[in-house]
Amino acid sequence: MGYIELDVLDGAPRRIVIGIDLGTTNSLAALWEDDRPVILRQEGSSGIIPSVINFPAEGAPLVGKQARAQAVVDPQHTLFSVKRLLGRGLADLRGELKDLPYAISENANGVLEIEVRGQTYTPPELSALILRATCDEACAAFENAEIASAVITVPAYFDDAQRQATRDAARLAGIEVLRIVNEPTAASLAYGLDQKGEGTVAIYDLGGGTFDVSILSIEGGVFRVLATNGDTQLGGDDFDRVIVELIREDLAGELSAEDLADPAFLQAARLAAEKCKIALSSDPRHEVHLSLPDIGLNWRHRVTREEFEKRISPLVDRTMDCCRRALADAGIEPSELDEVVLVGGSTRVPLVRARTEEFFGRPPHTELNPDEVVALGAAAQAQVLMGGTRDILLMDVTPLSLGLETVGGAVSKLIERNSTVPCSVTEGFTTYVDGQSGIDFNIVQGEREMAADCRSLGRFKLTGLPPMPAGMARVAVCFHIDANGLLTVTAKEETSGVRTEIEVSPSHGLSEGDMEAMLQAGFDNASEDFDRRRVADLKAEIGTMLLAVKKNQTAADEKLDPESHKELADAAARASKACDGDDLDEIRSARDEFEQASLPLAAVLMDHVVKGAIQGKSLDEV
Ligand code: AMP
Repeated sequence: MGYIELDVLDGAPRRIVIGIDLGTTNSLAALWEDDRPVILRQEGSSGIIPSVINFPAEGAPLVGKQARAQAVVDPQHTLFSVKRLLGRGLADLRGELKDLPYAISENANGVLEIEVRGQTYTPPELSALILRATCDEACAAFENAEIASAVITVPAYFDDAQRQATRDAARLAGIEVLRIVNEPTAASLAYGLDQKGEGTVAIYDLGGGTFDVSILSIEGGVFRVLATNGDTQLGGDDFDRVIVELIREDLAGELSAEDLADPAFLQAARLAAEKCKIALSSDPRHEVHLSLPDIGLNWRHRVTREEFEKRISPLVDRTMDCCRRALADAGIEPSELDEVVLVGGSTRVPLVRARTEEFFGRPPHTELNPDEVVALGAAAQAQVLMGGTRDILLMDVTPLSLGLETVGGAVSKLIERNSTVPCSVTEGFTTYVDGQSGIDFNIVQGEREMAADCRSLGRFKLTGLPPMPAGMARVAVCFHIDANGLLTVTAKEETSGVRTEIEVSPSHGLSEGDMEAMLQAGFDNASEDFDRRRVADLKAEIGTMLLAVKKNQTAADEKLDPESHKELADAAARASKACDGDDLDEIRSARDEFEQASLPLAAVLMDHVVKGAIQGKSLDEV
């Protein structure tokens, strides 16, 4: 068998290592099985978990399809696109806030907090809910399985803080992260490009919220990412917004400005817009229908593919600009590419397919389901990391340059953008004042020359330097990026041996204290969660018992004495009524009474079976 299994004991859960595509719009998981990656899904399901969370007035948060279904009726408590908030601060979100229907603030650490129903949640906490739901869907594909660890994908553009926030989310969800992998890198694995001899490939990934393009080279089975580019603010959601604008323009004369800005209207328009966009991928025209009785709206409007394409054309052009820049960084002409791969649900848009074919000068690969490619690749990566047979070497690149602020506020870059990781770079620094006993360092990430224009990842101080004249200290600062793209920095003064290990705690990251508190909250709620599960199980049990009684109603009517008959009917009614509520004790005692009251019926039926058996009938016949 090709399953990746750990410690499989009789009766113990199968411990699986999976790949997870934690997407802006959708998330899903895959597993390596019988020499290929497969999407994990329950029967009859696509396995796709919409990355949407709804907080109902009572009870646990809803995640996935159930949450998305609440978007129209309960927009204020339904969160979309949480991934856009991971590892980011308010300043990063300028211009986007107006589109988010929920209240966001920043805490003392610069971590965002989203307020829903009087409670605040950080983006890692919210992403943890999505990860958990994705893992639950994955486990439901088996009778008895649990996740041992996972490869989780992130956009190539994610900086250190965003990657760290993804790790935090996994930890809060109780998932051990085997590796954080760039989405385009995973996608290339899903297409088995490692099995190609040589070549250069472009991966064009247009999802719901992000766009990434990667240029990869394959040489003798070795995979190298030559360059990445993209736009973290561009995706299918923007196509939806184009149609929402079209709807709003058309309704401007009919609805008040207040109604047009109403969250319920906007959510309904957004869902109708997405439906329209998807329909236009296969049909030349589509009729948008919006029915909102609350504001007396019943509106129909026909949108043609031509009209849609005209409006999204500037957005598609922006993706092509990114492709141009990526090729320039890689030093490659479009004609030198051997293959082009399309990834992400939005690459189903015919205009996107046509433009990529035109730009790269060859038909792109579209054989695999573009929604599944990243998760499949993550599973392939998991297989490789678990010592699987695919003989490949994967190298990623760091998407942004990393350096230190120097005296005067300029940036000294230690690791250049697009360097392959893992990597280490050491650079020498010195003191500039006689007798200086310490040096302050500011670690920055970005392409700008001045530190103030880059993002500060953290500050640290090397202290305890022996008194020396200016310029005599020899401080070696080493930047090390591990295979996950995470940075650690060490600084050492060579003559005295004074050394500092720096934990780069990224801006907009959860502190260890925050993390502990959140984990503790999870434990504190564990008993409540357990009770909820118990209530659900008991209700299911009562449901089965009610069905059994109904099925044997004739036997009960004919064979039970009047007292037992009444007791059974009363107990069934009480159990059924208890199921309307959520009181564990009440449901449990109703179930117990029901069980007791159904014993005479069980005896009657058993009697019947035994008699039948004596008369030579099989069990099925009686
Ligand atoms: P992903 O993030 O890869 O799951 O992509 C999700 C995006 O793909 C969403 O914006 C979807 O609306 C979009 N999408 C899915 N199917 C289609 C389709 N048939 N045509 C156009 N866009 C689609």
